[in-house]
Amino acid sequence: MKTGGRSSPLLPPSPPLPINRNNLEASARLRLLLPPPPPPLPFSPLARRRLAATRIGAAPRPQQRSPPPRAERPRRPHHHWCGMAEVAAGAGQLIGVAVATLLAAIFLAAALLGSRRRRRRAPLAGKPAAVGGCGVADGEGCGGDGRTDVIVVGAGVAGSALAYTLGKDGRRVHVIERDLTEPDRIVGELLQPGGYLKLIELGLEDCVQEIDAQRVLGYALFKDGKDTKLSYPLEKFHSDVAGRSFHNGRFIQRMRQKAASLPNVQLEQGTVTSLVEEDGTVKGVKYKTKSGEELKAYAPLTIVCDGCFSNLRRALCSPKVDVPSCFVGLVLENCQLPHANHGHVVLANPSPILFYPISSTEVRCLVDVPGQKVPSIANGEMAKYLKTVVAPQIPPEIYDSFIAAIDKGSIRTMPNRSMPAAPHPTPGALLMGDAFNMRHPLTGGGMTVALSDIVVLRNLLKPLRNLHDASALCKYLESFYTLRKPVASTINTLAGALYKVFSASPDQARNEMRQACFDYLSLGGVFSNGPIALLSGLNPRPLSLVAHFFAVAIYGVGRLMLPLPSPKRMWIGVRLISSACGIIFPIIKAEGVRQMFFPATVPAYYRAPRPME
Ligand SMILES: Cc1cc2nc3c(=O)[nH]c(=O)nc-3n(C[C@H](O)[C@H](O)[C@H](O)COP(=O)(O)OP(=O)(O)OC[C@H]3O[C@@H](n4cnc5c(N)ncnc54)[C@H](O)[C@@H]3O)c2cc1C
Repeated sequence: MKTGGRSSPLLPPSPPLPINRNNLEASARLRLLLPPPPPPLPFSPLARRRLAATRIGAAPRPQQRSPPPRAERPRRPHHHWCGMAEVAAGAGQLIGVAVATLLAAIFLAAALLGSRRRRRRAPLAGKPAAVGGCGVADGEGCGGDGRTDVIVVGAGVAGSALAYTLGKDGRRVHVIERDLTEPDRIVGELLQPGGYLKLIELGLEDCVQEIDAQRVLGYALFKDGKDTKLSYPLEKFHSDVAGRSFHNGRFIQRMRQKAASLPNVQLEQGTVTSLVEEDGTVKGVKYKTKSGEELKAYAPLTIVCDGCFSNLRRALCSPKVDVPSCFVGLVLENCQLPHANHGHVVLANPSPILFYPISSTEVRCLVDVPGQKVPSIANGEMAKYLKTVVAPQIPPEIYDSFIAAIDKGSIRTMPNRSMPAAPHPTPGALLMGDAFNMRHPLTGGGMTVALSDIVVLRNLLKPLRNLHDASALCKYLESFYTLRKPVASTINTLAGALYKVFSASPDQARNEMRQACFDYLSLGGVFSNGPIALLSGLNPRPLSLVAHFFAVAIYGVGRLMLPLPSPKRMWIGVRLISSACGIIFPIIKAEGVRQMFFPATVPAYYRAPRPME
């Protein structure tokens, strides 16, 4: 926000505004847009004085008429003095009453406005709630005077967790979210135990309470009528630690609510249309408020978390988005899964089908359909596909509920995108969440990566008192891209590789690999514990991933050699190894071999925050 005569570290000092009627009207509008008074704690006494001055300066003052110059004053006649005194006394009383009425009206209006603001802050769950809002119309925005430390674009999983985390660390955060009503989506419904541990680290674990979330203790795999149970290795953890599955919208509302409960976090409904850039440095964002007003907001750091369909990431990374398949989502009601508190993965033809509870009475079903086009829902092709191709492959215990869900008709689809992280380090801005990095959702790793990234970023930012030296901050934050790699790349690579291994193929070598994978995981012990520890995010180590992946391939070749090797079987074995390499190496290459396996050899790994302190 630019106000007359004050300068910010990012913007050149602005000249004092001339006082005229337009300015007074503008300041009246500004006062209405200003957020509730900021809390005393996170702001320095100087900032508080400045803010107070801003608010006083912004309020339209009643125009005071100065007395006319002495020479112009009318001379008081001496006769009729008493009568005039009575009139003056009467007029004085009238003025007194008028002033008192005016003051009472002002107090009443202020009290009403305050209570309306408080009411708007409170009930986030299920309702649109624009909280605060510090943008200023006509190209000027808030934050330019140092009132905002970080702008967060998007309050989904990443944005709301990030806003709470930074707010808790004393940063003044302005979150701009396109839609503050409860999202209703088929994404982000199973949080792996590794993600839950990150939630605890961030102090957000209560966000999975009171939303009828279900504990998830592992997976059950189904193939050709057989099944095997893979439990998460949770023995070493507190009994509360497990996966959680829930309605994504309920979880997000809880996190938004928690972020908005901090006095230094402002959550505003608005759509960010572009980044404000000056000389290669991002200074803030341009956004449209709920009422359609175009505003700008400024901060030393803008973190873009606008999700998988991000249209802001283009300036901050080289997005190479791949869409290998789509998920078709259904909700099965009042059905019992064969293995309670477990995610179910059916290795179906042509590709996997998932089931997991999302409340005490509902089970989410996600059917993978390869390619970018799915059968039409509108003309009934989808229902036909689900009944004829998918239904015969699902466990018989849930068949009836599956058919009932199709007949009910609430079928949703979502593209499954993957995109390796390829940032362009840009002063003043950072990408997080799906806007930054995506992987196939088969393994439910997206939220775990996002939360793990937030922990890394929080630890990096913690020692920094101010964020105003954009290029020094940018250089320092390059270490974020390296520090996050081992965890993020392992989860990403596992998701991409497992999707390919679990999908049916006309290639016999690939089908051998698929069967070998199912049998390897069924062996139990280290053969199931290792891979499930990777998938759960409890032990996401890249070397462990590569070791288990090639152990599966070698196990597959070994089975081909028994009881006696034949030239044909040996040839299939060679192709199996070759296709295993063809699956995993391109994913690892895209993730970055050095950062994934040898992060300590990357210079950015050692960057310390000294220049900014
Ligand atoms: C089908 C499917 C199933 C999945 N299942 C799982 C799962 O079970 N477990 C798991 O961990 N992960 C899963 N994922 C991945 C997971 O959903 C994402 O990784 C996670 O939601 C990413 O969070 P985010 O905050 O980056 O994006 P989102 O949660 O999508 O949030 C983005 C937010 O930005 C807002 N926004 C967008 N544009 C703008 C704008 N211009 N201005 C202001 N606001 C804007 C949006 O309204 C939204 O609120 C799944 C993904 C898919 C596709």
